[in-house]
Amino acid sequence: MTDQVTKHLWEYDHPYYCDPHNWFVPLDQDNGQNHIHPSWPAFLGFLDRNGCNDPDTFLVFRWDWDRDEDPDDGDEPRNDLNLSVMLQSRGDYGHHTVRMTDEDEPAARAWLTERASTTAAIWEPLLPTAEALKKAEEETQRLRAAVESFRAPLDWHNADHRARIREGMVDTLQTMTGRPAEDIADQLMRYSDSAIWAVECEQARTAELAGAVHASAAEVDRLEPPVATATIRDGWLLCPHCGDRDSIVQIDSATRKHRLSVASDDVVGRHMAHGDFVVDGYQCTTCDHKVDVPFEVQPD
Ligand SMILES: [Zn+2]
Repeated sequence: MTDQVTKHLWEYDHPYYCDPHNWFVPLDQDNGQNHIHPSWPAFLGFLDRNGCNDPDTFLVFRWDWDRDEDPDDGDEPRNDLNLSVMLQSRGDYGHHTVRMTDEDEPAARAWLTERASTTAAIWEPLLPTAEALKKAEEETQRLRAAVESFRAPLDWHNADHRARIREGMVDTLQTMTGRPAEDIADQLMRYSDSAIWAVECEQARTAELAGAVHASAAEVDRLEPPVATATIRDGWLLCPHCGDRDSIVQIDSATRKHRLSVASDDVVGRHMAHGDFVVDGYQCTTCDHKVDVPFEVQPD
């Protein structure tokens, strides 16, 4: 998810707060429960030295990145990651304040994300976002099916041409769908903190995809199929679709049909029963396809 994160960790304002001191321990005692680490690497070293790398016994149940470059109260600028920790095996609440730099954020995010999976596992059966993700996933699947339908072979005259156009659309739409839905589901189960964000992101992308599918369908509808060209062979005018001989008619604007036949190598004669008219194309009377007649057409 890191490539899609848009907010910094210090930009999240979590509900309520957690006091950085254990109630039962006097503030003025060095009790081993309230820690201030001068840097992120120093904090990691502390974890190593004190066997705190087990996410179950060193359960991070809350984090708050307190960043204030110009505090109102005249205090020194702060850039602290506050971690509220329960040492579960002995019911012991502790607090860790880590002096951070902005450059520490990616490493801290990765570490917190890993820790989040432990907390998320505890609450996973109750996560309200699971249902929302399921709905978003179903919608995505439905839209993917719509995209797939674009791939269906087309019954147009120039199928290759049509296919190329649709392939381009499908590629575009698939790019928009991004990572597979199952990745997101997996992520939701593991990262409670980012669950709501993941659902919102998925829903936004679903809506975007829906718009794209709609627009693409409209674009396909607007395309006129190209018209294949009739040929002359052995004195016959051949339909490019069914191959029938002398089955092509000229249609006029009054939808009257005038049969054609070959007059010479590059001239076609038109059997006209009526006076002058506006030509409205050519069509094969055997297979009903529209065709193009690239020859000079003369009245008989
Ligand atoms: Zn035909």
